[in-house]
Amino acid sequence: MSQISIKQEDRVFVLTGAGISAESGLPTFRASDGLWAGFRVEDVCTPDAWRRDPAGVWAFYSARRAQGSKANPNPAHIALAELEAQLPGRYFLCTQNVDNLHDRAGSRNLVHMHGELAKARCERECGRPPVDDRAIYASLDEVGRCSCGGRMRPHIVFFGEIPLEMPRIEREIAESTLMIVIGTSGNVYPAAGFVNWARQSGAQTVYIGPEPPLNASAFTHIVEGKAGEVLPGLFDVQS
Ligand code: NAD
Repeated sequence: MSQISIKQEDRVFVLTGAGISAESGLPTFRASDGLWAGFRVEDVCTPDAWRRDPAGVWAFYSARRAQGSKANPNPAHIALAELEAQLPGRYFLCTQNVDNLHDRAGSRNLVHMHGELAKARCERECGRPPVDDRAIYASLDEVGRCSCGGRMRPHIVFFGEIPLEMPRIEREIAESTLMIVIGTSGNVYPAAGFVNWARQSGAQTVYIGPEPPLNASAFTHIVEGKAGEVLPGLFDVQS
């Protein structure tokens, strides 16, 4: 497939994973030298870890914030923001990434289903919305409290928690005619199942990444390559 043709009647749903930020210098979940290497997910990214060791969880996410602050959007993030600008009202981006590289590239109709590194929220789920928080905490004493008294936690969906904005995501998938999935291993659910939902409603489904994902058989097309090299110039938007 040399180009992806987007027709006037198409509605596009894009799903991205850690791979789209790899060329910005953020390690993927799977990379052997990855961010999670040396950390057991259970120790830093579960509700139980938060209850047992909030200091350890904040230390882990503070380190990720420090790493994230050095990264910049790459040509793949920029190509998606440009695509959105060409498809007003018929483009939706769902990212599993907690970095803010899509936002900084200019994407607007965007959902972070696994949360955002640069935000915090009340651990008590008291209903107050997440707040901007880019602090790198040296100790738990520095972490603020919500006005209800609860400790602030990272605005991150821990393993075992329900991803954010699922009703909206489901609606967008049902209405889409073309799903483009980029840089995700097809390992983490429910995101890995989105392609099947799209196929059920008759959409074309394209995967872009350097190797086929685990759920490769569910895609109508696979474009092998690095997102930052493949995405610029990939879309042919018909006017
Ligand atoms: P994953 O690590 O399981 O898979 C990464 C995928 O990206 C692989 O399939 C790999 O082939 C592909 N990839 C590697 N380099 C690429 C490139 N240059 N272009 C395109 N694809 C490339 O990641 P996942 O499937 O997103 O799932 C892991 C979970 O970890 C997610 O829930 C995510 O929230 C989280 N995570 C987020 C970040 C981030 O915010 N940047 C980083 C690491 C992990």
